[in-house]
Amino acid sequence: MRILVTGGCGFIGSNFILKQLLNKENEILNFDKLTYAGNLDNLESITNNTNYQFIQGDICDITTVSKTISNFCPDALINFAAESHVDRSIDDPINFVKTNILGTAALLEASTNYFNNLNNRKFKFLHVSTDEVYGSLSNHGLFTENSNYDPSSPYSASKAGSDHLVRAWNRTYDLPTFITNCSNNYGPYQFIEKLVPLMILNCIDEKPLPIYGEGLNIRDWLYVEDHCDAIMNVLKNGNIGETYNIGGNNEIRNIDMVTTICSLLDQLKPRENGKPYNELITYVPDRPGHDFRYAIDSSKIKNGIGWLPKETFKTGIAKTIKWYLDNESWWRNILDNNYSQDRLGLKKN
Ligand code: NAD
Repeated sequence: MRILVTGGCGFIGSNFILKQLLNKENEILNFDKLTYAGNLDNLESITNNTNYQFIQGDICDITTVSKTISNFCPDALINFAAESHVDRSIDDPINFVKTNILGTAALLEASTNYFNNLNNRKFKFLHVSTDEVYGSLSNHGLFTENSNYDPSSPYSASKAGSDHLVRAWNRTYDLPTFITNCSNNYGPYQFIEKLVPLMILNCIDEKPLPIYGEGLNIRDWLYVEDHCDAIMNVLKNGNIGETYNIGGNNEIRNIDMVTTICSLLDQLKPRENGKPYNELITYVPDRPGHDFRYAIDSSKIKNGIGWLPKETFKTGIAKTIKWYLDNESWWRNILDNNYSQDRLGLKKN
């Protein structure tokens, strides 16, 4: 398959590209703006792979997007490009509206023009989205593909807007689209401001472990490679125009995620002072609009397409912690070069 990936220098996109290039029949063009979250180091191992190309560009720039699509002639476009951090969306919402909504619209428009001129009509557009579009759950219930959209943050609202556009382009212009709404991911190459890497790095550097509120918010965690496999499964076997929820069936409270990381690090890299890492936990005022619980019903993708996650939470989190321990130069480079240190501490205090 010739796949145009947008946002392939970020966390999930780079995991997707690394995996898909193991199949020599795939050719991938990665189109990424290289924002603070995009990192060429993630793809260093494939720089010389002849089945891989990289173009630096902005998905909002429809002229460059159109040229890139018509030169590459993809069989599929997978849109990972987004502003993705909820805290940043609270500080700078307009940037999220631009990339997540206007950028997706530009991709849809350029893809439709390309698709309409394709003799073989062989093209699919897959939009990678989040379970956060459905809003917050109480202690009961699961998000299904039919749950109402009810986003709480500028991030989730902008992703919700982009999902509506994808559906509209399918219904109005017959663009062959899929939408996937996935739960929280964790794994290698996740940018260091997100919960899992932030806690691992702060433990290693003996910094406070900031937890919002009382740490009782619940997320459904999925190992990133399982998400990438699900996306490829939908692309190959999904029903055109449909939405697929993807989740790990691993509901975990934030505080339990952090104490799990602490106790694994107690074994793998004990502190010099002999004390447990959970002593570094520090509670900070809650995030505004903080959704209480997300939980996904993945039965549609499981029963309809046959996808199942391969990692359990136990195996996935152990792999992830080991990866950050083994790849210290990867995250130290981010810390040393281009990252504002105040985001790693107790910024909200
Ligand atoms: P990320 O922030 O790690 O990476 C985003 C990538 O997009 C970066 O490489 C960045 O440079 C690029 N980008 C940003 N704006 C761009 C623009 N205007 N033009 C071109 N490239 C641009 O994000 P991620 O965690 O890898 O998430 C990827 C996608 O998956 C997002 O759409 C996100 O909403 C969705 N998602 C993420 C999670 C999660 O837990 N991380 C869960 C569900 C869905």
